[in-house]
Amino acid sequence: MNIVILGSSGSIGTQCLSLLKDHPEHKVIGLSVKSQTELLKEQAVEWQVPKLCVYEEALAEKLSGDLDRPVSFGMEGLIELATLPEADMVVVALVGMIGILPTISAIKAGKKIALANKETLVCAGHLIMPMLSDYHAELFPIDSEHSAIWQCLRGEEEKSVESLLLTASGGPFFGLKKEEMEGKTKADALKHPNWSMGQKITIDSASMMNKGFEVIEAHYLFDIDYDHIDVVMHPESVIHSMVEYVDHSVMAQLGAPDMRLPIQYALTWPHRYPLDLEKPLDLTEVATLHFAKPDFERFPLLALAYEAGKKGGNLPAVMNAANEVANAAFRNKQISFLQIEDIVIRAVHTVAYQAVNTVQDLIDADRWGRDFAYQQIQGVNQ
Ligand code: MG
Repeated sequence: MNIVILGSSGSIGTQCLSLLKDHPEHKVIGLSVKSQTELLKEQAVEWQVPKLCVYEEALAEKLSGDLDRPVSFGMEGLIELATLPEADMVVVALVGMIGILPTISAIKAGKKIALANKETLVCAGHLIMPMLSDYHAELFPIDSEHSAIWQCLRGEEEKSVESLLLTASGGPFFGLKKEEMEGKTKADALKHPNWSMGQKITIDSASMMNKGFEVIEAHYLFDIDYDHIDVVMHPESVIHSMVEYVDHSVMAQLGAPDMRLPIQYALTWPHRYPLDLEKPLDLTEVATLHFAKPDFERFPLLALAYEAGKKGGNLPAVMNAANEVANAAFRNKQISFLQIEDIVIRAVHTVAYQAVNTVQDLIDADRWGRDFAYQQIQGVNQ
């Protein structure tokens, strides 16, 4: 299989490449980064990758000069890689809204897509899912919860599903009172108890925006209405998610909290291959598993995601855009942790509902959400 990885310098991208070392039958034929050209250079040499893209044009030009070969750039460069005729699979490991156009392009080119970019489904799931059958493309989730559900659904009939149970660790602030969360810093929020992930998603986990996104993602991936998707707090992250069937039998997928497992499953499905984990799951060591209902008051972004998902239209895209800006502002120490949720909630409750029928509608909704969040942050800092 010929594989393109969009976002090869991030947590998912680098783990994906390290997994492929054990699979010489697959060739890496395209890699993209936003700005980390040094790492891209190393990856390009190691994997002898014919097509490279650096999102930032000036850096792409410099790399092109250094390597004495063409390097594409910008959204056009990402789309070029996502649609390479010789590519069989495109791994979309980009962070944020930027993943939408390359994913749509890969679908239109009939590719297999391993999707780690949940923002794409959050904002555009209703546009993307019908396109898959139209263009004979396939979409495989990399997100651990959705990989778990995908594994639990294997061999079962769609009509026998009663509900999906998404597990949530609760992130670093699980169990804290609201006032205890107020003074939390970036360093506190980045201390995820179980998972090692990129910064943006780790902050989203601390605010539980991430779990909200995953509810919407599950709705589209598995075509289940929101009233049949539940979140279950499970601080040990041993059960990665569950499916309840109409006979109330519940299937769960368990494993060590290691992203290489869902990444490999997406790359090699329908096959399973050995995976050399440092610490495979030992249930006797874990000994006890805990479960609780989510606290929607303490984590209002989870409630907001249900609301935005159910109402649809431009609301999920506005929510995502405002969150991207607020998340970055928190990481840049411009706003406090709880101001993230203030800004995102205000954005969704201020915007006028509009249907999203085209990619342009989506871009407009995204723009609105970003502008609104920027204004709010400016207000905070005046
Ligand atoms: Mg996840």
